[in-house]
Amino acid sequence: MSGNPSPSPPPDPEIDDDTKTVIGIAFGNTTSSIAYTTPDGKAEVIANEEGDRQIPTVLSWVGSEEYHGTQAKSHLVRNSKNTVAYFRDFLGKKYSEIDPTNSHNSAHPVDIDGVPSFNLQQGDDETVSTVSINEITTRHLIRLKDSASDFLGRRVTGAVITVPTDFSDTQKEALVAAAKAGELEVLQIIHEPVAAVLAYAARQTPEEQGVDKNILVADLGGTRCDAAVVASRGGMYTILATAHDYGLGGLKLDEVLVDHFSKEFIKKHKVDPRSERSLAKLRLEAEGTKRTLSLGTSATISIESLADGYDFHSTVNRLRYELSAKKVFDQIVSLVENVVKKAELDLLDIGEVILSGGTSHTPKIASRIAALFPESVTVNAPATLATALNPSELSARGAAIQASLIVEFDQEDIEQSTHPAVTVAPHLSHPIGVVIGEDNSFHTILEAQTAVPARRIAQFDVQADGDVIVRICEGIREIVVEKVERQVNGEKDEDDSEDEEDEEDEEEEEERNRVLKVHKVIAEAAIRGAKKGGKVEVTINVSSDLGLNVAARVVGTQIGVRGEVSPEAGSA
Ligand code: ATP
Ligand code: MG
Repeated sequence: MSGNPSPSPPPDPEIDDDTKTVIGIAFGNTTSSIAYTTPDGKAEVIANEEGDRQIPTVLSWVGSEEYHGTQAKSHLVRNSKNTVAYFRDFLGKKYSEIDPTNSHNSAHPVDIDGVPSFNLQQGDDETVSTVSINEITTRHLIRLKDSASDFLGRRVTGAVITVPTDFSDTQKEALVAAAKAGELEVLQIIHEPVAAVLAYAARQTPEEQGVDKNILVADLGGTRCDAAVVASRGGMYTILATAHDYGLGGLKLDEVLVDHFSKEFIKKHKVDPRSERSLAKLRLEAEGTKRTLSLGTSATISIESLADGYDFHSTVNRLRYELSAKKVFDQIVSLVENVVKKAELDLLDIGEVILSGGTSHTPKIASRIAALFPESVTVNAPATLATALNPSELSARGAAIQASLIVEFDQEDIEQSTHPAVTVAPHLSHPIGVVIGEDNSFHTILEAQTAVPARRIAQFDVQADGDVIVRICEGIREIVVEKVERQVNGEKDEDDSEDEEDEEDEEEEEERNRVLKVHKVIAEAAIRGAKKGGKVEVTINVSSDLGLNVAARVVGTQIGVRGEVSPEAGSA
């Protein structure tokens, strides 16, 4: 190939225009994945021709030959100048807006009329051609599409693609255009955390899906980590808050091991292997060692002729690695805490945690995040839950599920369906519930953060014959902190020991519990002549302007009341 990357092959004439074959694509800076939905509705991630399900987002050229994925990634050692990596976040941005830090070890972006581009030797005659980020993205998407088409035996025509929550409209437009140039129709762009939620929701029964809760999604990747709090209310998803850390991720953990092994190498051979080609080799191998440490308690590294002709063989155990990586783990934990704060919630308001992205395989990260939450909270990660889905596959699976759901929709309907998943719909800031009879406890009917309009029904037992007073109330969350004495075994992390009195073997610890109290009574009604053992049913309708429509009745009878509360008197 010479000049710019060639367009996709001409359409197969045998393809019937009415057959739509759609897939899900997770497009990451580090890896990408493709997934499809089986006829019985299960999402499956597809392996490409090399057998990879996590396909490195890397393209490389040697003469006119184009390499993709793992093969291209291996070119970072010998052919780094013609290898393009970590480029997803450049798409749709001006050159002045990008951070090229991760490109220092591969083809470096250049400024061509403001568009991030790459100077690559792509022809047999060693001429250098300038390829824009848009064209690189097109090539990458074509390779993914072709791998999926080969696997499925049908030409893939469309895809749902996942992007981070901070992908701008300009970036989304650039993605749609890049896909179109590769003859791939983007059915919809969805946010990565929503895709992760969809991937898990697909395994649930409709009843389980209907349970209202706040889900925290931590997407821990290679170059960046993102977190989001997603409110699931009656099967609708609203993103309440997001947080991002662009310098944090798997690359930082690779660096921890590179430093560890380099020190060992220097000690033995008095040579620092952290220069160009040796460093590239060490990085690739250290990443493999890191992955092994997610499964086993020790891992080896073996590199022939690492530097100055010396071979390198070593072993590292998981504890040693975890100690060296503690700072990176701390930053990930902070990101998780931070997103909960940004959502103006407490950690106790989170009902489920989903760890997504390759770095979520790391056991210590999963256990550190799990330790933030009460034991009753499910933390979906391989180290904390045996039935967890593969965190590297969640985005692609969610996208594939979404693709199969909307494939028959027309564009207008797709835009409608996008709404609850990706935008912040108006929602309740306080829970709404009832206080029944003499018992003063607050029973939640609509959780805070429920997107409106919304309707919920709840039933309560009648405790005694006579009138039942039903108060519709707005609740308020209070965190009660209690001090509890706890025995400590004396073992502590090295780094923590300085300012603490760690001689003591008893420690006062705070236990935090969430209680809901009545904040404001919105409406009150008496239901006459209820019988003990019967049930009172309360229905609450909240309109989109936050007006309330309330009905209460004794189940199985005509006895009941109904009323409306204007938005001003209701909850805000
Ligand atoms: P980015 O954050 O750069 O956009 P991405 O979303 O493409 O990247 P992922 O594929 O989610 O990234 O994660 C890639 C990272 O996960 C790499 O750093 C890789 O080394 C790491 N990783 C993959 N598998 C494992 C594993 N088993 N144990 C630990 N880390 C792993
Ligand atoms: Mg990612």
